[in-house]
Parts: sequence; structure tokens; C-alpha cells
Amino acid sequence: HQNIKVALIGNPNTGKTSVFNQLTGLNQQVGNYPGITVERKQGFCNLPLGFKATILDLPGTYSLNASSLDENVVIELLMNKNDKDFPDVVVVVTDVENLKRNLLLFTQIKDLELPTILVINMSDRMELKGITLDIPYLEEQLKTKIALVSSRKKLGIENLKKLIVDYNKVSTEPCLNASSIDTEYFGGLKKAFPNQLLYKLWLVITQDVNFANLDRKAIETHNFAKTPSELKRLQQKETIKRYQFINDVLKVGRTIDTENAKDFRSKLDRVLTHKFWGYVIFGAILLLIFQS
Ligand code: GDP
Ligand code: MG
Repeated sequence: HQNIKVALIGNPNTGKTSVFNQLTGLNQQVGNYPGITVERKQGFCNLPLGFKATILDLPGTYSLNASSLDENVVIELLMNKNDKDFPDVVVVVTDVENLKRNLLLFTQIKDLELPTILVINMSDRMELKGITLDIPYLEEQLKTKIALVSSRKKLGIENLKKLIVDYNKVSTEPCLNASSIDTEYFGGLKKAFPNQLLYKLWLVITQDVNFANLDRKAIETHNFAKTPSELKRLQQKETIKRYQFINDVLKVGRTIDTENAKDFRSKLDRVLTHKFWGYVIFGAILLLIFQS
């Protein structure tokens, strides 16, 4: 049977390592990426129907707009189809309490047109926080398969394994087209490089990364290279567009019922806003009555 290569990617503290440990158990190897001190963790996992997977736990990254060595490791891997670690499927891990921020990276990876599964981790916190999710709606809008997981409570891991086995059924379509970020700029790019993936091209232009068969000189002759300030403006524009999209999706696909949240802070908030002031006023009236 085929050995499926899986890349685990996500913002820091979304529970990537916890999911990795659940998938791989003690079958782990820890090393470093050549030339840099970034830790490289790889593990092995038995899947249903006799399939096997090699899981790579990548360094936490906020976006594909690289600003650190850690983030570069992720970009370099996803840019280079010839890399021995190039994944068959990407698993993006998010934290149910920070979905909005976490989905930024997810939409960027979807733009690379790789099969991408979304893990929404820490599902054990949903009741506490009054969060409910419309998973079919989210799957439809984000054009992906979702595994709702609690790596702490060991819930949803088997379902995630099944989704990995069926990675061929996960859509490779972007959920947000790069061209919607700047129609004119990306339109020009598409004309000059008809056979290249737009978002990948843009990453090559904006980040200092290479990938197979792309002539950097060609980018310069077509005058697509931008000044640092222009690039910054384009990147900001990208972030805004992506958050608009994510906001719209979450507005329908997620509800947060703070009235019924069971965590201590929500309870305290409710007490302080309603009952607390009631007691204070009642006490003050009693005090006035007794004093008169
Ligand atoms: P990473 O930075 O993405 O690798 O995240 P870690 O796996 O190190 O987890 C970050 C924190 O989240 C740790 O304190 C974990 O114990 C906690 N955590 C991970 N998974 C879960 C989960 O399913 N539920 C809850 N409540 N906490 C979790
Ligand atoms: Mg980690």
C-alpha cells in the first residue's frame, strides 16, 4: 500500500504537536533542517485499510508571508514539488477559539492548490465557550474536509485518519482566488505566465524563494518585481481580503453564544453585569431605610 506524505502546518499553539503525537504515538524521529537550527520532527502512522503515512510536524507559522526562518521552512517545502518531503496532503491545524486568525494561513495554503484538510482542534472547549459550528457549511465554503478534533481528549483522531486515506477526494480548488486581491496585477501575471499558479508565482516574487522552472529574470523583464513599499501595500491588501472572506464565512458557519458559555469569565461577566448591580442597589436601598 501507498505511504501517504502528510505535512502538519498551523499557527503556533494550535495543538499541532499534540495532534502529531496522537497520530504517531512513539514512532517519532527528531532532527534539524540542514544548515539551520529549526527542529524537524517526523513520525509514522498506521491508517485504516492498511494505508500508512509519514507525518511531518512543521514549525508554527502565522502566514506564508515569510518573516522568519521557521516560516521559510514551510514555504520552501510547499514551493518545491521535487523536495523529498513534498506532501501528498497538507493538514492545517487550527484552534476552535482562534479560528478567525488561524484560517488566514489555511486560505493561503488552499491557494497553492494542494489537497488540504482542515483540523479544528480543541473541540473540548466548545461547550465551555458556547461555540457551535456548522461543519457542512464550513466545508462547502472553505472547499475542504474538516476534522473536528480534541487531541487532549483523543476525540476525532480516527476520523482524521480516514480523511487522510481519502485525501484524493479533498478539493484542490482555492477557496479564495489570489486574483481577487488585485485584479489588475494578477491579471498581468496570468498573461505573462499562463501556465503558472498565480499565488505560487506571487510568493516567488514577494518572498525570496525559488521553485522549479521559474526564471526569476522573466519576472524582472516583465516588470512584476515591486519596490519594498509596493510589496508591503499588496501584502496588506491580501490580508484584508482574506479576513473579509473569513469573516463572511464565520458569520454564518460559527455561532458564539456567550449567554450560555460555561467558562468562569463568562459567568463572572454575567454576574457583574446583571445580578451584581441588582444586589448593590438593593443593599443601598436597605441601608437608606435603616438609617432613616
Ligand atoms: P503547537 O504549538 O501547535 O505544537 O501546540 P501544542 O501541541 O504544543 O499545544 C499547545 C497547547 O494547547 C498545549 O498547552 C496543549 O496542552 C494545548 N492543547 C493541545 N490540544 C488541545 C486540545 O485538544 N484541547 C485543549 N483544551 N488543549 C489542547
Ligand atoms: Mg509544536
